[in-house]
Amino acid sequence: MELHVFPDPILTKPCADVEIGDKSVLPILDEMAEKLYEWSGAGLAAPQVGILKKLVVIDVRDEPPVLYKMINPKIIWKSDELIESREGCLSLPLLRETVKRHEKVKVEYFDTNFQKQILEAEDFLSCCIQHELDHLKGTLYIDRLSRIKYTRAVNKFHKLQQSGGANLDDTDEE
Ligand SMILES: [Zn+2]
Repeated sequence: MELHVFPDPILTKPCADVEIGDKSVLPILDEMAEKLYEWSGAGLAAPQVGILKKLVVIDVRDEPPVLYKMINPKIIWKSDELIESREGCLSLPLLRETVKRHEKVKVEYFDTNFQKQILEAEDFLSCCIQHELDHLKGTLYIDRLSRIKYTRAVNKFHKLQQSGGANLDDTDEE
């Protein structure tokens, strides 16, 4: 499994539903979880490893830590309240930007036994779920920025790649 990095076009493609009971996705989720820890991410969506299926793994390092392996996740409720979420993405190394997210969401998904689960999440976990589910639609968090901030973020991303983060400018330029 290789990490696909912006501007790889696979990151812009929508994912297909997994057939319920299709056990071929289980080893994919296992390997995605391994990569999540290896790459020190909070979440990883299948397109980021080149697979256009609705699969997500998340571990936001709560105490105690919980690893979620989600098949066909979808948000079934979101709070009206929005919060500012300072985000990064394994597919956009070194870049961090602030986007608006719903403070709370309810997500429905199938677990690795193909049992339907509903998870209510808030704050960082909620933002992480929204970020990962966006990947399944081919949306990156920078796509949620205004056009001018998007252009600025992409320019900053390319500069960060060239400098290896040496001149990491983490200040907002709003
Ligand atoms: Zn991401």
